[in-house]
Order: sequence, then structure tokens, then C-alpha cells
Amino acid sequence: MARLQVLALTRRYAGRAVLDHVSFEVGDGELMVILGPSGSGKTTMLRLIAGLEPPDEGQILLDGQDITAVPPHRRRIGMMFQEYALFPHFNVFENVAFGLRMQQLPEPEIRARVRTLLEQVGLPGYERRDVHTLSGGEKQRVALARSLAPRPAVLLLDEPLGSLDRALREQLMGEIRALLKAERMTALYVTHDQAEAMAIADRVLILHQGRIEQIATPEDLYRDPATPFVARFLDVGTLLEGCILAEGDPAEVETPVGRLWGFHRGAIRVGMRAWVLIPHLIRGASYHEDEKPSGPVNVLDGEVLERGFRGLHVELRVRVAGGVLRQLLSPANPWIRPGQSIRMHIPADAVRIWPVDTEGARSSG
Ligand code: ADP
Repeated sequence: MARLQVLALTRRYAGRAVLDHVSFEVGDGELMVILGPSGSGKTTMLRLIAGLEPPDEGQILLDGQDITAVPPHRRRIGMMFQEYALFPHFNVFENVAFGLRMQQLPEPEIRARVRTLLEQVGLPGYERRDVHTLSGGEKQRVALARSLAPRPAVLLLDEPLGSLDRALREQLMGEIRALLKAERMTALYVTHDQAEAMAIADRVLILHQGRIEQIATPEDLYRDPATPFVARFLDVGTLLEGCILAEGDPAEVETPVGRLWGFHRGAIRVGMRAWVLIPHLIRGASYHEDEKPSGPVNVLDGEVLERGFRGLHVELRVRVAGGVLRQLLSPANPWIRPGQSIRMHIPADAVRIWPVDTEGARSSG
């Protein structure tokens, strides 16, 4: 339990910044996920925070204290990796007890702590088991117990479920989150899997080419992506390239699917090229002539190409002039079928506009 602050952290390899002045804070007991494509700098970030390599610039603070120059074993930071980094010649007990022995705790205390942790990770009575007799999921549960045993102030997890199959991952995701929350552990969890990030995080930090694109709760990322990269990476909607026709909020923009009204992020001017996002799932969208929503609205006529059942949603592919949109809507629209002409009313406040030159620019908050 602690507060972790990262200030202007920078790491260069051969002159190229793989982390570029990254600043953020993980609150006491918060579970933050770092999500980004391969090569975005996620592992490097964890290695710097763990002290496995030094930053070129910047600082790392734990509860306000600068630990940038503190050696790894004195940082009170635990790590858990994707590979089963268990000691193969130790049994389960000795693996979990490892950090406790380093702390030279009395034997009865070690035994009690190991027993409690094995119960917490769903492996009661596994003390004497050899590591090579465990399944992949059991190994990662032992690895989690081992990393929590010495009560680190912060736990770093690097793709801890990366080598497990989908069903097991989904189960363990829930278990890891529940355990970290029960321990009120401050944790930083790295993954490249969007669904895993959304399921486990209190907040998600989206990393791209060594910079922060956005830090937000999972719901806010989908409701209000800060950049075109975030919108594309999370597949929030259809991104169109357009040109600004009128400034203001809403602004008007010419796109391949027609003129649209939308709200902009970043400074725009008439004539500027812009990215325009039409979300797949639009609150307040209507597909009936007689249900026109209030406020400024975009009207798009199209033809339904496909209707797919997705459980809680129905997914439509709709051909409109100049493109195809994917729309998710409630299954309570049984009349919308392939071949059907529909008129979509899309509120302007669902549409996002970014100047194209901010494609590389980031904001956080
Ligand atoms: P991620 O974990 O997001 O996949 P990494 O932090 O592993 O990304 O790597 C970020 C970038 O830094 C990549 O382009 C990678 O090739 C480069 N990189 C990582 N470690 C080294 C190193 N020791 N020497 C040179 N380049 C490195």
C-alpha cells in the first residue's frame, strides 16, 4: 500500500527515446493497467520502476520519497512475470516463502503467511507439491502468492496471464483483481490485451510510442477517447478523414459519408484536415423517423447490409453514401433487417473531431 509517482521518466536506447517524459501517479491501493501495442515501452516502464535499469531522465517516488537511485531489493516493489518464474528445485512452500526468508522472519510466521496466501489464491494444502506437477494456472497462482508474500508497497505485473488460454485467463483476471483489492495493493499491470485491461483496471494508461495517450477509467476511455489513436486502438468507432467546414461546438466537417456535426478536441480552423469519429455504440441514436432526438443531429441514410446477434447487442453493418458504418444497438429493434433502408439520427455530441496534426499529440487526464 503506497502511492507511486512517475515524473518525466525518459529512457533512450541508441539515442531513440522508448519512454519520453512520461508522468503519472498510481494512488494508494489503486490498480492501474498500462495498455499499449507491442513495442510501446510497457516493459521498459516496469523495469525502470523496479530498478532493473536506470532512467536517462526523470524520477520515481514512493509515498513522496525519491527511490530513483535505490537498488531494486530495497525498493519494496514486487514483480510478477508472464513466464512461470518459479524456482524449479523448490516446492510450492519454499517458493512462496522465498521473500519471507530474505526478510529473516521467524519460521512460524513464515508458515502462517504462506498458508494464508495459498488459501487466498485457491491452493490450500499445496505446500509440499513440486512446482513441475502444477498446471499453468496453478503456477501463476503460486507466482502471485510469492510476489505478495513479502508485502511489497507496490506490485508490478508484466503480462501475468500471457501464457494461459482464454478461459483460464478470464477466470484468473477476476481472481487477481479480487486479491489485489482485498490486500489493498497498489499495482501496475501491463498488458497488450484490451479486454483484459478493461476487466481488471481501476484506471487504464494508454501508452503509444513511449508516450501517454490517455489515462482514464475503462468506461471513460470508450465514452470519450482523447485521441484518434485511442479511438482506433480500442475500436471505439469508425474513424473518417474529413475537412473542417465551420468552427465552433459543434463544428461542421465534410467527410466521405457527408457533412457531420461534432464536438472537437484541440484547436481547429476552417479548411483544416480532421479525424472524425462515429462511435459504434451511440447513446441517444435513433433509427426511426418519429424518434428524432433533440439538439443538433446528423442524419445519415443507409441500407442495412448485415445484422449479427451479439448477446446484449445487435451489430449492424450499414452502407451509407461513401462508406460502411458498424453500429451496435439494442436487440429491441427487430424490424431492422438486411436489405432495409434506415435513417440514422446521430446526436452531434456523440461525434468527435480532432485536427489531423494532433494525431501524434497526446493529452492525459
Ligand atoms: P513493450 O513492452 O510495450 O512491448 P518494450 O518496453 O519491451 O515494449 O520496448 C520498447 C522499445 O524499446 C522497443 O522498440 C524495443 O525494441 C526497445 N528496446 C527494449 N529494450 C531494449 C534494449 N535493451 N536495447 C535496445 N532497444 C530496446
